[in-house]
Amino acid sequence: MFETKTIVCTRCEQTGTAKTRTKGNFLIELILWLCFFVPGIIYSIWRISSREKVCRNCGSTEIVPADSPAGKKILARAHIGATAPIEPAKNAATQVAELFKLKEQGAITEDEFKAHKAKLLS
Ligand SMILES: [Zn+2]
Repeated sequence: MFETKTIVCTRCEQTGTAKTRTKGNFLIELILWLCFFVPGIIYSIWRISSREKVCRNCGSTEIVPADSPAGKKILARAHIGATAPIEPAKNAATQVAELFKLKEQGAITEDEFKAHKAKLLS
């Protein structure tokens, strides 16, 4: 019940742990229990049995375990998306110039600048 398995949402590509969503309303459940005993039981059973794992981010039920083939595919795709430059047209020189600016601002260290520059120009 307290699964902490990593999941991947096929809709928003969010990675993390799933959230358990229980359908129905606790208040209705309580009223049914108090006023009508049998419907209360039925309602409770329905709520428990209809519990589902949903994405923490968008609430989608279209989630897959991160270690499944489908999950791995999404992760790989998301990873490429995250590391690819936002503007593919941007050339290495522009990127080095931007890195230099970052270094000037103190956002990155001299070493980081050199490392990134070497990577860009390789
Ligand atoms: Zn999602």
